[in-house]
Amino acid sequence: MPVYTYKCKDCGLVFDFLMIKKTEKPKCKGCGSYNLEKQLTTFAVRMDNTNTTGGSNSSCPTGTCPISG
Ligand SMILES: [Zn+2]
Repeated sequence: MPVYTYKCKDCGLVFDFLMIKKTEKPKCKGCGSYNLEKQLTTFAVRMDNTNTTGGSNSSCPTGTCPISG
């Protein structure tokens, strides 16, 4: 999920906004204003924990089960 940094033009608060939905609008955490300025991230976002979206795919514990499907 992309994380964007915004700066509120009203109160000057800088905060990170996690965009879960594309249509979601960032809102200032301080004063609740939508008057925000998108900040350029000066540092690279750490992506050291890549989560694979596999779901609950339970495999055979012994590895000898025939593959069904
Ligand atoms: Zn604000």
